[in-house]
Amino acid sequence: MERLTIQVGPYEVNCSILCEDGRALIVDPGQEAGRILKLIERKGLKPAAILLTHAHFDHIGAVPELQRACPGLPVYVHPNDRPVLTHPMNQMPPEYPAIAVPSDLRDVSELAVSAIRIIETPGHTPGGVCYHLPAEKLLLSGDTLFAGSIGRTDLPGGDMPVLIDSLKRLAALPDDTLVIPGHGPHTTIGEEKRSNPFLRTVVSR
Ligand SMILES: [Zn+2]
Ligand SMILES: [Zn+2]
Repeated sequence: MERLTIQVGPYEVNCSILCEDGRALIVDPGQEAGRILKLIERKGLKPAAILLTHAHFDHIGAVPELQRACPGLPVYVHPNDRPVLTHPMNQMPPEYPAIAVPSDLRDVSELAVSAIRIIETPGHTPGGVCYHLPAEKLLLSGDTLFAGSIGRTDLPGGDMPVLIDSLKRLAALPDDTLVIPGHGPHTTIGEEKRSNPFLRTVVSR
């Protein structure tokens, strides 16, 4: 499964495009819908779905425009993050105005792409997930795990003990798994187990 990752919007969210059989799965389209669509078109792909690691404003900003450009484009999110999507605090105008509930909103557990495993990783938000592609040794970790750090838990719905539990699930993945976080540089599970203070705590427990 080919992957492209670009940084979008002022918060430089890592938006990944997973290509399968001419179809493009768009992970965390935080901003810059036009740029995302151009990239998909240049690759000769058809947008097939939007996959959200979680519903924070910096990861969903381009959803309305993508759905306008591609009517019927489904949006997959964990049910526990549905309230976050339209939460009054989940906006940062003018770049990120509040969004309406997307049409064709689906439960991420119903995503029927055999190459992608959903790992539930609540803690940063109640419905955070990571997308694991075992054959590609790839993890799209959203704001759960960063190179050298982890997601904040002081926003509405955040919960540190829950996040620590989620990190245990990620620490169990093979060391050579490439991690593309929601922001910042990529890393590997092995590197984080060695150098990330939060993951080191989890592993030594
Ligand atoms: Zn977030
Ligand atoms: Zn974020």
